[in-house]
Amino acid sequence: MTPMLSVSNLEVVYDDVVPALRGLSITVPSGAIVALLGANGAGKTTLLRAVTGLLVPHRGKITKGAVRLAGTDVTGADAAFIVRNGIAQVMEGRRIFAEITVEENLKAGAYSRRNRGEIRESYVRVLDLFPVLATRRKAIAGYLSGGEQQMLAIGRALMAAPKLLLLDEPSLGLAPRLVEQVRDIITHINRQGTSVLLVEQNAVMALSVAGSGYVLETGKVVKEGESAALLADEDIREFYLGAS
Ligand code: ATP
Repeated sequence: MTPMLSVSNLEVVYDDVVPALRGLSITVPSGAIVALLGANGAGKTTLLRAVTGLLVPHRGKITKGAVRLAGTDVTGADAAFIVRNGIAQVMEGRRIFAEITVEENLKAGAYSRRNRGEIRESYVRVLDLFPVLATRRKAIAGYLSGGEQQMLAIGRALMAAPKLLLLDEPSLGLAPRLVEQVRDIITHINRQGTSVLLVEQNAVMALSVAGSGYVLETGKVVKEGESAALLADEDIREFYLGAS
């Protein structure tokens, strides 16, 4: 079966000198949740930017390799094309539009879609998934709590009806109870048919929800496997869990 996302032998260079990704290959099978782990500077954000067409022009450049989305080559394509082809991303730091309402933020997530009926259906589904957003529909997004803003960021991405959802550190800065909630929501979204690539520093959270994962170091995959095997891996336990 054609994978939802296939990144093969990808090399990305910043400022024509620094290779941030050095021949990186990962696969997100259709219907899967895949975790991407790695320390600061390992290349996780660069990978997401390369996949979503958000490398800064004239700075970050794909110099080798390919990105395929459900079999379509999207290497170096622009972000609008990639969104139309079914990828949505929740960026690190909950980049919602702070000045407008929750409802307006959600509707903005559907900007690439035309069918009003389908947009309406997604809207109802998102409010169902996040009751807290339903009660705060008319609130200015900037006044929501950190956890609520994270839910809004995820809800807005879902409004694009993506086939593949990329999440960049969704648990960052959230209280443990909210981390659990985010994890449940990821599972729920996945069960409804969306594949997920989950970038996390929180290895336990990521590997408890993903079926498999990759560990990046200096722009390359250094470990990959089923989540259970990665969770049992001594290096990973030591590095991420402070255990040996
Ligand atoms: P973090 O968890 O800190 O976000 P990361 O794993 O996402 O880290 P990247 O941000 O992708 O890592 O960084 C990979 C490498 O590319 C690092 O060496 C970083 O310094 C470099 N880099 C990232 N963005 C740029 C940029 N805009 N210009 C130049 N170098 C960059």
